Amino acid sequence: MKAEPGTLETRQAWHSLDLAGLLAHLGATDRGLSGEEAARRLGQYGPNRLPEHEPPAWWMIGLRQFKSPLIYILLVAAAVSLVIDHAVDAVFIGFVVTMNALIGGFQEWKAEQSSQALQKLLHIQTWVERDGHRIQLDAEDLVPGDIVSLESGNRVPADIRLLEVNGVEVDESLLTGESVAVTKNPVWTGGADTPVGDRVNMVFAGSTVVRGRARGVVVSTGSHTAIGEIATDVLRVGGGRAPLLDRMERFTRVIAVAVLLASVVVAVGGILLRGYSPEDMFLFAVALAVSAIPEGLPVAMTVALAIATTRMARRGVIVRQLAAVEGLGSCTLIASDKTGTLTCNELTVRRVVLADGRTWDVSGEGYAGEGAFVAADGTDRDDGLDPLLEAVTLCNEAELRPENDAWTWRGDPTEVALLSAAWKHGVQREALLEAHPQVASIPFEPEAQYAATFHDGAVAAQGVSSGNSVHVFVKGAPERVMGMCDLTDAERTHAREIAESMATDGLRVLAVASGTAPRDGIRPLEGTGGVDAPNHLTLLGFTGMIDPLRAGAAEAVAACRASGIEVCMITGDHPVTALAIARELGLAVSEDEVVSGPDVTAASPEERMDMMRRARVFARIAPRQKLELVEAAQTAGHYVAVTGDGVNDAPALRQANIGVAMGASGTDVARDAAELVITDDNFATIVGGIEEGRVAFDNVRKVIYLALSTGLAEVLMLGAVIVAGWPMTPDGLFILPLLPVQILWLNLVTNGIQDVALAFEPAEGDVLARRPRPPGERIFNRLMVERSVLAALFMSVAGLVAFWWMLDVAEWTVEASRNGLLLLVVLFQNLHIGNVRSETRSIFRLSPLKSPVLMFGVLLAFSIHMLAMHVPLLQRALGTEPVSLEQFAALFVVAMGIILVMELHKLIWRYRHATN
Ligand code: ADP
Ligand code: MG
Repeated sequence: MKAEPGTLETRQAWHSLDLAGLLAHLGATDRGLSGEEAARRLGQYGPNRLPEHEPPAWWMIGLRQFKSPLIYILLVAAAVSLVIDHAVDAVFIGFVVTMNALIGGFQEWKAEQSSQALQKLLHIQTWVERDGHRIQLDAEDLVPGDIVSLESGNRVPADIRLLEVNGVEVDESLLTGESVAVTKNPVWTGGADTPVGDRVNMVFAGSTVVRGRARGVVVSTGSHTAIGEIATDVLRVGGGRAPLLDRMERFTRVIAVAVLLASVVVAVGGILLRGYSPEDMFLFAVALAVSAIPEGLPVAMTVALAIATTRMARRGVIVRQLAAVEGLGSCTLIASDKTGTLTCNELTVRRVVLADGRTWDVSGEGYAGEGAFVAADGTDRDDGLDPLLEAVTLCNEAELRPENDAWTWRGDPTEVALLSAAWKHGVQREALLEAHPQVASIPFEPEAQYAATFHDGAVAAQGVSSGNSVHVFVKGAPERVMGMCDLTDAERTHAREIAESMATDGLRVLAVASGTAPRDGIRPLEGTGGVDAPNHLTLLGFTGMIDPLRAGAAEAVAACRASGIEVCMITGDHPVTALAIARELGLAVSEDEVVSGPDVTAASPEERMDMMRRARVFARIAPRQKLELVEAAQTAGHYVAVTGDGVNDAPALRQANIGVAMGASGTDVARDAAELVITDDNFATIVGGIEEGRVAFDNVRKVIYLALSTGLAEVLMLGAVIVAGWPMTPDGLFILPLLPVQILWLNLVTNGIQDVALAFEPAEGDVLARRPRPPGERIFNRLMVERSVLAALFMSVAGLVAFWWMLDVAEWTVEASRNGLLLLVVLFQNLHIGNVRSETRSIFRLSPLKSPVLMFGVLLAFSIHMLAMHVPLLQRALGTEPVSLEQFAALFVVAMGIILVMELHKLIWRYRHATN
C-alpha cells in the first residue's frame, strides 16, 4: 500500500520551527539524552514501532480451518447421515473434522509464532548518542529528543529533524509515491503547511537513505510519526506465502469440486442405471469424496515448510519469503560478494609503499594500535611515512581507541584497519583533528570508489592552508585516485606497477593522495554537502591489507561445484587482488576467468552471457553492473542466488531468483530486498541454506507422494467395485469394501500422523552431492507419476483380491471382511512409508534410526489402529474388531508386497537412469 501524496499529516509542524526552538520544545540538546531520561521517555511515549495487529489466537486459526470445501462436504455428509439414521457416522465425522481443525490450527499458530520470533532478529539497529557516547540501539528504543546518525543504506527509524547532512539523498517513495530520491537540507525552514514531500529539513520513518551521511534529532516515534498516523501496516515486511502452498491449496480445491461433481454423477448414475439404493449411493459418494481429497496435504505441507524455516534459522539463515525455501533447491549459480562473505572482512594493513617505492611491512594483529613498521630494506628509517598515515587517519569515518586494556572500535573495517596502522606509528585521529578541523568531506560510496576530506590548518610537509584554500586528503581505489593526481607518464607507470604487485599478493590496495582545494568550492558541513571531486593531487603511496579467507569458505565452494552449483565472485575490489583470492578459494585459476566492470558495460547482451559462462571473478563491479550480470546469468538459463549488503545491491537482490542479504554487515535496504538473510555473512551458511532447501523440497515431495498414492489406491478400489457391480449381498444390496468413516480414519488419523512425521525427515544422504533440479521442474514429474500410479495400482488390486478372498472364499461376514481390509490398508500405509523415504534408493540402504520422528509416527499410527480394534467405543464407531494372529500374519505378508513392488521399480528406474 502506498500513501497518497499529500495525505500525510503530522500533529506538529516540526519542520517549521527554528532549531533552537525545536530543541527546547523537545527538551533536548544536540549532544543527546542521558540514558535515564531516555528510559523515562520510553515509558512515556512507548516503544518506537507501529501498532501491529495482534496475531490471531490459535482457536481463531482453528476456526479458520473449517473454511474449506472439503470440510463443507464432510459437514453436509454428517448432516445427511443424521437424517438417514447413521448417527454414529455423523458423530465420528464431526469428531474427525474437529481434530483436523485443531491440529491444523495448532500447526499454523506455531508457524506464525516462530515467524514472529524470526522477524525480531531483523529489527533495525541505529546509532544514537546517549550519555555523550555513540551507541548502537534497537530502533524500537528510540525516543523523541534522541540524536541519531544515519548513513547510506539505513532505513530511517523515526521522524527526524536534520541537524547536519553530507550529500544525503533519501528515498521517500513509501510515503509520497515519488520514486526519485530527494536531497535534504537542514538549513531550510518552511511554512507549517509545506507538504511532507517538500519538508527537506526532515526525514521520515519508512524512507531509506540511499546516499551520504546525516545526523538529526528524533521528533516523533511509533504511531506519532507521519507514516504512523496513516498507519496501518505499510511497513510490515510480509513473510509471504510459499507459492507451492498456494498451488497445493488450489489443487485441493479443484480436486474437491471435481470429486464432488463426480460423486454426484456416480451416485445418481448408480441409482438410475444400476438400481442401487439411494442410501447406499449416498454413502458411496461420501466415501469416494473422502478418499479422493488429500485432506492431510495442506497441513503437512505447512508443517514441512515451517520446519525447513526453523532448521534454516538454526543454521543462520532467516527466511523472509517462504518461497525461497523451495527455490533454494534449484539454485544453479551463486553470485557471491568477496569481502565479508568469502573473506572475514577483518582487515589488517600489512604493507605500506610510498610513491617513490620505499616499502614497509607492518606487524600486529587485529584492530589494535599494537605493532610496528619495519622497512623492507632492513634499515629502521621511518621518515616519510607521516603524510600518508595522517592522510588515511583524517580521511576516515571510523573510531579506534584503547579502553581499559582493550581496544574499542566502530565503523567500516577498511577504515578501522587504517586507523590501527597509523596508531602503530603514533598517528592519532583526535590530536590531528584538533590541529586540522574538518571543513567538509566526501564519504565513501561504492560507486565512487574513493573518499575525501577537507581540512584547515598546517599539515606535515605541506605548510599551512592559506585563506582561500584548504587541504584535501583522498584514499580509494588506485585507478580512481591516480586519476586525480598530477603524475608524469613514468611516475604513473611506476605507481601502477607498485599497486599491481601488491594486488598480486592478494592485498586489498588503497591509494592515498593529498593536495589543496579552493575554499570557495566547498560548502560548509552543515549545508547540503556535495563537494566536487578533488584534482591536481600528489600521490603519497599505497596501503595493502590482508583479508583472511573465511574458515570453511574454500570447502563450501568445492561442495557447491561438486553438486553442479556454479559459484562466482562479484566484487568492487581490484581484478588482480580478486584473482589472488579466487585462487586461494579454488574458484578460478587463470586470468581468462576474470572480467572487470568496464568490460561488462561495453559488452553486448550475448557477450555478457558468454562472460557468465566463462568467467568466475567479476572485479571492479559497480552495483549497476551487478544487476546486469544477474540478468545475463538468468538469460543464460541460471537460477541465481545473489548475495549483497549495500544499498546499491538492492536492485540485484530483487532481480535475483533468491536474494541473500548479509545480516551482520548488511544495510536495512539490502535486507528488505532479499528473500533470505544470513546472520553471520558467511558463504558456507548460504550453502547450508541450499542444503536445507533441498531437504525441504524433498520432504514436500514425500508428503505429496504418500497422500497421493494412498488416496488414489482408495479411489481405484471404490471405482472398481462400483463398475464391477460386485460385491452384493444375496438380497441385492451393494457392499462398500470400506465405509466412509473408515476411509476418513485412514486419511486423517493413521495417514495424517505419518504425513506430518514425514515433514521431519532429515537429509536423505548427501543432498549436496546431487545436481540441482531443473528450475521450473514440476513436483508431479515423471518419477512421481510413475511411482504414485504403480503403488496405487498394487495396493488397490491386492486390497480387492484380499477382500474377495475374505468375503467369498473364507466366507467372513461383511463386517469382518471390511475390518480385515482396513487393517490391510493400515499395514500398507505403515510399510509404504519405508518406500517414501527415498525416491530412488533402496529401502534396505536407509537406516530407520536416521528418522526417529517417522518411526515414532509409524508406531503411533499403528498403535492407534490397534486401539481402534480393541476399544469398544472405537469399535462401534469404526466397525472394527480384533483379528487372530494368523489372520494378522497373512495380511502382513500381503502388505509386504508393496515394498517388493516399489523396490523393483526403484531398481528399474536406477537401471534406466544408470548414466546419471
Ligand atoms: P568489496 O567488493 O571488496 O566489498 P567495495 O565495493 O567495498 O569492494 O570497495 C571497492 C573499492 O573501493 C575497494 O577495492 C577500495 O579500493 C575502495 N574502498 C573500499 N572501502 C573504502 C573506503 N572506506 N574508503 C576509500 N576507498 C574504499
Ligand atoms: Mg565492501
